[in-house]
Amino acid sequence: MPLSLEAPRILLRRLRDLMATGGEQQVRLDKTVSLIASVMEGAVCSVYLRRHIAGQGANQAGGGILELCASVGLDAQSVHKTHLTMGEGLVGDIATHKRPLNLAEAKQHPNFAPRPETGEDAFHSFVGVPILHGGDVRGVLVVQNKSMQRFVAEEVEALEIVAMVLAEVLAASGDIEDVRAPDAPHTYIGIGLVEGVALGQVKLHEPRVEVSRLFSDDSEAEQRRLNDAIYVLRRNVDELLATKDVSHAGEHLAVLESYRMFANDRGWLRRIHDAVQTGLTAEAAVNSVNGAMRARLGQQRDAYLRARLHDFDDLSNRLLRILSGRAVNAAHDKLHRNTILVARMMGPAELLDYDRRNLRGLLLEEGAMGAHVSIVARALNIPLIGDVAQIAQIAYDGQAVVLDGTSGEVHLNPSSTITDTFRGRALLEAKRQKRYARLRDKPALTRDNVRIRLDMNAGLAVDTDKLITSGADNIGLFRTELQFMVAARLPRLQEQQEFYAQVLEKAEGRDVVFRTLDIGGDKVLPYLALQPEENPALGWRAMRIALDRPALLRYQLRALLRAAKGRHLSVMFPLITTTAEFVQAKQILHKEYALSQRLGHGVASTLSVGTMLEVPALVWQLDELLPQVDFLSIGTNDLMQFFFAADRANPRLAGRYDILSAPALRLLSDIRVRCDAHNVPVSICGEVGGGTLEAMTLMGIGFSRFSLPSGAVGAVKRMVRSVNLERLRTCVSATMIDNPDNMRDHLKTLAQEQGVKL
Ligand code: PEP
Ligand code: MG
Repeated sequence: MPLSLEAPRILLRRLRDLMATGGEQQVRLDKTVSLIASVMEGAVCSVYLRRHIAGQGANQAGGGILELCASVGLDAQSVHKTHLTMGEGLVGDIATHKRPLNLAEAKQHPNFAPRPETGEDAFHSFVGVPILHGGDVRGVLVVQNKSMQRFVAEEVEALEIVAMVLAEVLAASGDIEDVRAPDAPHTYIGIGLVEGVALGQVKLHEPRVEVSRLFSDDSEAEQRRLNDAIYVLRRNVDELLATKDVSHAGEHLAVLESYRMFANDRGWLRRIHDAVQTGLTAEAAVNSVNGAMRARLGQQRDAYLRARLHDFDDLSNRLLRILSGRAVNAAHDKLHRNTILVARMMGPAELLDYDRRNLRGLLLEEGAMGAHVSIVARALNIPLIGDVAQIAQIAYDGQAVVLDGTSGEVHLNPSSTITDTFRGRALLEAKRQKRYARLRDKPALTRDNVRIRLDMNAGLAVDTDKLITSGADNIGLFRTELQFMVAARLPRLQEQQEFYAQVLEKAEGRDVVFRTLDIGGDKVLPYLALQPEENPALGWRAMRIALDRPALLRYQLRALLRAAKGRHLSVMFPLITTTAEFVQAKQILHKEYALSQRLGHGVASTLSVGTMLEVPALVWQLDELLPQVDFLSIGTNDLMQFFFAADRANPRLAGRYDILSAPALRLLSDIRVRCDAHNVPVSICGEVGGGTLEAMTLMGIGFSRFSLPSGAVGAVKRMVRSVNLERLRTCVSATMIDNPDNMRDHLKTLAQEQGVKL
């Protein structure tokens, strides 16, 4: 009899009866394999369970061994004696790749590695499926036969449902080991993306809904519950799509669009319905299908497909929350006072959805310095560690956790010694912040009385409060694209104007340098479909888009001019590559100025127009460019990536090339000299100015204007006030000549010798 959907249903009913009888784990497992073998008409049915090896990290991906725990058909002597490592033999291969194997002749598979003690040599056809729970492999279920006939696809699928059911049953009865972090302390190392120490409790961004009721007595009623929940889910997604606007920093439109697509995905829904049909509750069915889906897509290297995996997960979770009667969005749960948010990955808007007063830290499985969520976390001063392997699967709500965003250390269930150490670090950090706060109203004046201008970078509404609290002089770089990135659709003219007016209002007369839209590259607007490019950082981005499609730029300039009504306005253009591009952009600005005036709108009373210098080619056009600009700002993030040909967002290249090296400093120094010759103010606005040693060195080669991440203003101001600039300049120049290699170490020594507070 070929396997059919009827088989798992019969099996499930019998399994349930079997489980209800209780008894010893081994007896239950033995009965289970007998049952599967008889219903599936297999000569052999075996269950291998994954066991952890003492001394090997419980959560180590790919760790552990597979133990033959029960079998009918294989030699009884081999049960609990046969062990396979992950990846070993066909069973290990299934476990590692988290996918079924269906073979007419097992011996022909290159990974076939028979264990003589089992007597499996006598069997030919082989079908094995992974036993998955929460996306992790907990074991392998195998059926073998003497014939050389491959199982048909429906049979494999039916066996997968059996494995799902088995996983749920085994998990509920505690027969499989949990890969969650045991309550013993565990340390993980990720990449520190936003500095700071945090102590608190885990809050999962997508909390797993624990499914306690596995079996239903009435499949029809469960199907109805499932249909109702799917209806609510779809309505929910539609509502989100319809109502999100720029004023509400809502979820990413692309994500929502894919939710909508998945919420209507027939294959996904059919699998859940099939699982319910076998007798599972709707919750258990959603859980099981999601586990299998995650396991398959989890093998994907492709970033796009991994992102889709995340969408599916999120959607399943929403469905589970609806079925269990909870709020759909975890951001609306009541937060613990010291919440450490844990997620696989997260968009900037999702982070903004949380009540920030209670957020102390953020841990992500993905994430890099240049990721938008990192920019937002930095703006909110939330310590962030990215690249923490499997943390969202391991951690659970309420678990104690401490983290250090500088070193990238994470401790789950920290020991009291670790907690005390981190408390000490947090205290030190708080003291440091207090020290900086005392400097807030003091000028950034060197010991030999040279005033250094310390502005800050901004882009979100929340940033403007920092202008007062950080002690920055002005906003030297306002990244306007952030407002566009957190919006679900293109902000309208009026919305842009109101936003800019608000920023200017809060700045209370301080300068705000608005950089026009810098999109493209890694800055994606979900509602603006751009062609995928081979090399997006070098592609159609920023001013290139703006000059080719000037409507967007014109609208933005109009909004800026009107928002600044009666006040001064500073505008800066990103990624200018040729003088002609700057001239063209400036002409558009002046045209907009004239147009708004003609139409009787109040506009900015005075204008400064500048450019970013991010493209090396512009360095050799400075003599033509500088007479046209009011100021120049060096975007070292991009300039250095183009200068060294090293992707700024690639963690593998981080630290490989140093801005504190002779070639980079010579370039920057040449730019500064040309700007001085033309009497054009020049500043540094890349993240690099936020490092005290870097800022000190840049002062040493003649820079006196910086725009920094707001959190760095205090430390840099303290450094500035400890410097004798004249001495510093002489020594930095000498270091560039005498020690062009390994400058960083020499600069550190120099700082120490001169008593510079880094
Ligand atoms: C830069 O490139 O240095 C810069 C400040 O711009 P962004 O980081 O926004 O690309
Ligand atoms: Mg840039």
